[in-house]
Amino acid sequence: MRLSRLFGRTQREVPADTDTISHQLMLRAGLIQQLAAGVYSLLPLALQVEQKIGQIIREEMNAAGGQELLMPVVQPIELWRESGRDTVMGDVLFRLRDRRERLLCLGPTHEEVITDLVRRTVRSYRDLPLRLYQIQTKFRDEPRSRAGLIRGREFSMKDLYSFDTDEAAMDRSYRAMYRAYQRIFARCGLSTIPVEADSGAIGGKESVEFIMLADSGEDQIVRCAGCDYAANLERAEFFREVDDEPPEPLEEVETPGVKTIEDLATFLDVPQSRTLKAVFYSCTRAREDGTGVTEPELVFVAIRGDIPVNEIKLINALKCVDLWLATDEEVQQAGLVAGSASPVGLDGVRVVVDRSVPEAGNLVAGANRPDMHLRNVYYGRDYTADMVVDIGSARPGDRCVHCDGTLTLARGIEVGHVFKLGLVYSERMGARYLGTDGVEQPMYMGCYGIGHTRMIASAIEQSHDDEGIVWPAPIAPYDVHLVGLNLNRKPVAAAAEQLYADLQAAGLSVLFDDRAESPGVKFNDADLLGMPLRLTVSPRNLKQQAVEFKRRAEDETWLVPLDETPAAARAELRAQCDAALAAAAAAGPPLSD
Ligand code: ATP
Ligand code: MG
Repeated sequence: MRLSRLFGRTQREVPADTDTISHQLMLRAGLIQQLAAGVYSLLPLALQVEQKIGQIIREEMNAAGGQELLMPVVQPIELWRESGRDTVMGDVLFRLRDRRERLLCLGPTHEEVITDLVRRTVRSYRDLPLRLYQIQTKFRDEPRSRAGLIRGREFSMKDLYSFDTDEAAMDRSYRAMYRAYQRIFARCGLSTIPVEADSGAIGGKESVEFIMLADSGEDQIVRCAGCDYAANLERAEFFREVDDEPPEPLEEVETPGVKTIEDLATFLDVPQSRTLKAVFYSCTRAREDGTGVTEPELVFVAIRGDIPVNEIKLINALKCVDLWLATDEEVQQAGLVAGSASPVGLDGVRVVVDRSVPEAGNLVAGANRPDMHLRNVYYGRDYTADMVVDIGSARPGDRCVHCDGTLTLARGIEVGHVFKLGLVYSERMGARYLGTDGVEQPMYMGCYGIGHTRMIASAIEQSHDDEGIVWPAPIAPYDVHLVGLNLNRKPVAAAAEQLYADLQAAGLSVLFDDRAESPGVKFNDADLLGMPLRLTVSPRNLKQQAVEFKRRAEDETWLVPLDETPAAARAELRAQCDAALAAAAAAGPPLSD
């Protein structure tokens, strides 16, 4: 490709309204253009990357027993009512009406459509297992689209769905996909870590996210320094100290003006871990008959004073659709005193406590009267809860439940997600097969997504420097960035043109900067665009019948004789891709069964 002809323009200025380095660099390098909030065009250079990633994904999906198909974007809303996710997806679902007033939506994911497809096609155990996938555009009306391709409202995803006869077979499909994901990210030259994850709106039991560590990431990852435990904060377990002191007599204390846990701990000179924090939430649930959501219900949440509440864990525990901090009005209506609310003597409000509470012994809690608190509130003696669940958020320095090691927190970007769905969808939607004994059984399912376009931006988050993008060689738009200097001199132009042809004949893809620009501009653009290997043809190098080589990731340059250049460039590219192939091999071979 000649740079003079390439559609898209590089720019030196940092674009306004960009919140991540990948977003800035993608705009500056002319890879994407925004059409509407969270909606982008992929320009030719970005599409090259998209296609290379797509090729690797397809090879690994096929090697893992996958069959590619393509499902519709437009989906009837009835399917979503059948699975019960119409309400759960809420405003994320792009809804539309056709000319006959029929309600449709644009697919944010395809569990419903694939389950419908398979239930209409599969008859017996002989038709299983099935691993079906597509690479397709998804639509999600995200509340906060951000960071360019990282969180778009229209984006491309690879989604595979597995259908098996029993749990053991589902586990085999899951392992095959897990392996395929490790191989895909490694082959793309990306480094990811698998972490235990929350299953979110998809439902199901076990799920793992593949996370690329990056400070700009929205996900918070908890990792143990002592063992290989890693989990999304929305799911992470941590150790809560057990205090087995006997209950002390309940005691009222005056606490004038004390409203917060910090004030309370200071005022009474006790650590925050000896207090009970009350947080009020309102929540709505999906109605069982599928007709929208229930009226808001107030929930009294109690947790040890020093531990933050994790709202995702709380949403899961309450199985609610929406959750928000209750307003003062909602709290007062329930007869509670914000700042001094107490679970003791409470009636008519659902009480949810974190696991830390029953284990913490005598705590200072509210008295449900202004400026008063209670000492030695003891779970089980003074009050009980409707639910005792894990709703705490791990903090750095907390201890690991597996090995007592120290937990640390890091940020990351979720690039892939594998789920064991079990029977959730097949039971709700009647996806059954005839077993060997002639009895109908629901199918065991799994689903596995990769953020195909998110990967492009994530790769840049992971691999860039002050000058621009540093593409991992396996997914770079072009292998070689060929820079021709002083092309107004005929012999130089002729040599550059010849090399351009010879490199392509040697099987390399080449971006040829044939523009009449200064060396400075050309080198800056080569750095910004980030191809793995830069070759420079110039009058000075040609005097020695040589070409200058430079790896994008390193400063050093070296000369190679002109006639040996295509072979040397090929060897260099192969060497740069070898590390990625070795990392994929280390994950193990594809599992097709
Ligand atoms: P997130 O938690 O980031 O919103 P999710 O868990 O809802 O994502 P999944 O339903 O698991 O997403 O989708 C599979 C993959 O699709 C994700 O791992 C992610 O890489 C990608 N993805 C999800 N939402 C978006 C988006 N809005 N823009 C780009 N990629 C996305
Ligand atoms: Mg996910």
